[in-house]
Amino acid sequence: MTATAPREEQLWSRCAGCASLLYRKRLRRNLDVCPECGEHARLGAPERLRQLVDPGSLRPLADRLPEADPIDFVDVVPYPHRLTAARASTGLVEAVVCATATIGGHPVAMAVMDFRFLGGSLGCAVGELITRTAERALDERIPLVLVTASGGARMQEGALSLMQMATVSQAIAALHEAGLLTVSVLTDPTYGGVAASFATNTDLVLAESGARMGFAGPRVIRQVTGRALPEGFQTADFLLRHGQVDMVVQRRSLRGRLVALLAATHAGAPTRPSVPRQEPASHRERLADDDAAAARPPATPAADGTAAVRDAWDTVRMARHPGRPTTLDYLDSVFDGFVELHGDRLGADCPAIVGGVARLAGRHVMVIGHQKGHTTAELVARNFGMASPAGHRKALRLMRLAARLGLPVVTLVDTPGADPGVSAEEHGQAAAIAENILALTVLPTPVLAVITGEGGSGGALALAVADRVLMLENAVYSVISPEGCAAILWPDRSAAPQAARALRLSAPDLRRLGVVDEVVPEPPAAAHDDPAETALRLRAALLANLLPLLDVPPAMLVRLRRQRFRRFGAARAGQRAGVR
Ligand SMILES: [Zn+2]
Repeated sequence: MTATAPREEQLWSRCAGCASLLYRKRLRRNLDVCPECGEHARLGAPERLRQLVDPGSLRPLADRLPEADPIDFVDVVPYPHRLTAARASTGLVEAVVCATATIGGHPVAMAVMDFRFLGGSLGCAVGELITRTAERALDERIPLVLVTASGGARMQEGALSLMQMATVSQAIAALHEAGLLTVSVLTDPTYGGVAASFATNTDLVLAESGARMGFAGPRVIRQVTGRALPEGFQTADFLLRHGQVDMVVQRRSLRGRLVALLAATHAGAPTRPSVPRQEPASHRERLADDDAAAARPPATPAADGTAAVRDAWDTVRMARHPGRPTTLDYLDSVFDGFVELHGDRLGADCPAIVGGVARLAGRHVMVIGHQKGHTTAELVARNFGMASPAGHRKALRLMRLAARLGLPVVTLVDTPGADPGVSAEEHGQAAAIAENILALTVLPTPVLAVITGEGGSGGALALAVADRVLMLENAVYSVISPEGCAAILWPDRSAAPQAARALRLSAPDLRRLGVVDEVVPEPPAAAHDDPAETALRLRAALLANLLPLLDVPPAMLVRLRRQRFRRFGAARAGQRAGVR
């Protein structure tokens, strides 16, 4: 897709689209779009900014953060070495460049991702820098423009990189509340966790001509489905046809389109009554925050101790054990009076997500969870617990219904990940996940999430942006499957056990990283050996965590929830020490 490496001393480069040999200066004058075939070569962030903003208006935002390797990740090369190499080859500090600038005279805050830097992957630093850019937009009451280019979350930072999807999303939610415009410009390629969060949950989504965007990448989908992909799959025109972007824009028109959109939304601004900004928490509220924190039950130390000795790969196999209790099992054993609610109201009912009203110790709650199964037939019928966009939209419908009815939400997470299929992409998998993450950051009712089995990447997070996140002792929660990680970073997939260890996906590790608040101990063997005892323990943990949340006013719940997910970028230096 990219043209030959654009080094200044190179006079010629070959178009990746039509193989024409092009004079570099002519190509650059044409914004790196091939004059012969129209192929849009990938741009680095500095060049992208140069093309979009008014000359002389660029004010870079700070890009240096404490050095961190939050989970001490090592594959065949230690993560810090990969970072050093990426810095040397790009001249950038991280995979995003953030700035304030004007575009056609309109002030904006901008974050532009750079695919050359570790595939534009979303790590803690990238999440933190984009979040700060969004917060700057909020402070200055100016629009936020994001230009995305990313393969997804940065697996070398484990579940903490997954958390960035929530961190950035809630910063975008704050801009929505303040009536400030958010725009994302999808450039090639935009995938995974970036596609399933801030690339698609902005007010406007523009796709640059030729850009591809999706949740699952084409290679993964081909592998899983064993079928050839439709012509033009996941390209900008495909996305437009399937209703997932506002427009497809040629690079030469991109700046003009942004100017027009900024002008249209800016024109109304001075006369519109401005939405009051969220004030910092008052002293009284801060006291109450402390009270709420104090009311939380302490973590169960026994679980941290016993699970630590188990190898991560054994835990992965335990988490996937076919005998492990499913969401429907827990609905039967932990809850009473479950009434299942079906359908997304848009044309489908996804069997991989079940949800409905139930009672927990006499209190009404909304329970939503992934459903796997114990037999092959059950697993197939439930798509192995891999939700389609319809499943995510059903979950969203039930969450919002719960908030309207004043019911707390309990989610049970057990999925290898969201459905990697052609139809899922056609129906907006990335946007569906992104919408759930955004909705959960503002949902005005208590949300309690439990990772009961497999917590697989964005599909898991779509149900797990919660006030309290619990995890069964032998469950796993990860940004990518160990097999997927091994296939990318090791010579082959047989390194999955090493990848499992490197990813820090076990409950005790995630408890130490603060991704999980409490580990729920399983019976001595494991959940599948004694489902009844597991249910008793889960029920006790749910009650202990839910009851204190019921007394917290909804506005404060949302504020505390945001604080919980805000800290994953900023506090990572401290978290690192905790892992050791
Ligand atoms: Zn060409």
